[in-house]
Amino acid sequence: MGKPNLKAELVSVGTELLLGEIVDTNAAHMSQRLAEIGVDVHFRHTVGDNLGRIVSVLEPALSRSDAVLICGGLGPTQDDLTRESIAQVTGRPLRPDAAAQQHLREFFARRGYTATPNNLKQATVPEGGRLLDNTCGTAPGVLVELEGAGGSPGSVLIAVPGPPPEMREMMRREVIPYLAGRQGGPPIAVHTRVLRLADIGESSLVAEIDDIIREQTDPTIAPYASPGEVKLRLATKSASDDEAARRLDAMEARLRERIGRHIYGVDDETMEVAAGAALRAAGATVAVAESCTGGLVASRITDVPGSSDYFLGSVVAYANEIKQRVLGVPAETLEAHGAVSEETALAMATGVRGLYGADYAVATTGIAGPGGGGDGKPVGLVYLAVADAEGAVCLRQNWPGTREQFKRRVSQYALNLLRKRVLGIEVEG
Ligand code: AMP
Ligand code: MG
Repeated sequence: MGKPNLKAELVSVGTELLLGEIVDTNAAHMSQRLAEIGVDVHFRHTVGDNLGRIVSVLEPALSRSDAVLICGGLGPTQDDLTRESIAQVTGRPLRPDAAAQQHLREFFARRGYTATPNNLKQATVPEGGRLLDNTCGTAPGVLVELEGAGGSPGSVLIAVPGPPPEMREMMRREVIPYLAGRQGGPPIAVHTRVLRLADIGESSLVAEIDDIIREQTDPTIAPYASPGEVKLRLATKSASDDEAARRLDAMEARLRERIGRHIYGVDDETMEVAAGAALRAAGATVAVAESCTGGLVASRITDVPGSSDYFLGSVVAYANEIKQRVLGVPAETLEAHGAVSEETALAMATGVRGLYGADYAVATTGIAGPGGGGDGKPVGLVYLAVADAEGAVCLRQNWPGTREQFKRRVSQYALNLLRKRVLGIEVEG
């Protein structure tokens, strides 16, 4: 029987993290997944690719915590030292693992390569430990259970690969189920639900639900904003999934009564998922014509598995000539109103709809900046259009900011415009 709430520490390995070249998104993801099963993360460390320093982080971590999770440094190169560090700190020498070696050879053979000796180094395991399958890469994870004093269960050391998709899959498939099992009884976990909102800013939202936020005790409500959307994070702590779901349901219902018209999705239901679901339910197809978003709208639509059922394709029409020649925007429209105008946006949407024979089409044209403003058209000005068999409508917005924020926001609104048109929700210009 395990302990109710394990204490854990995370160790991110990689000199690039210390140099600030990459942000430690893995640690955030791992913390979130662990919180969901009630594992308390007490410390997080970042250490460079150096054997002595990795060991000096692992030693105290193992002496005080139930689980120590290492991320990164499992690859085949000289600076991948996690395996060696685990061997040193546990006093368990590395041994080749025949099954993992075979798996690696097959992985390379399928791609037409031969596994080199440094690749095979990844298929070694500290004595008494085991390897965790990597379903999206070559480096297997490592898991070593240590003995505690007097035969009691000791701490466990788990290493997962650094590439985020590999880490996420291994956490989901191997690490989380393992730790949940090791905890035994139901953990008091933090259960969260995220409500995603459109067409409302953070301050108006907070004003609308001010009393609910002030009264909140359980679940707690935290608003936070990202470009183009505001989210409300509801959180409650409970040992029972059902009890937590009941509390979250009740709070969600209360919020929906007040601001339901702004809630477009829950949890992982992003705008591209919501727009895709609307298209699927309508049995309709969509095509995209993009200028200022440079393909981001199409990219986000295709982030959703199964989007081939409704997404026909896009035209990135950056140059006026392409708007004209490919999408059929009349030269007079471009001359009279400019590329960033309601008339051009509407012509782009109807043009791509005809070109691809789609039921719906969306188009974006705007001035991302920092240069290019003027003529009464400021940086941040954007026109978004949606077209269907009934006609086309256009939305004018002004969102100054960085190019990244601008593109993200425009893509969010374009997808929202599409979603609303498909669902028959009126678009406020
Ligand atoms: P490694 O397993 O240390 O060889 O890492 C492989 C790659 O994964 C690195 O080059 C990074 O791009 C990425 N990576 C490693 N650690 C992290 C981390 N903590 N957060 C985000 N990305 C990471
Ligand atoms: Mg590394």
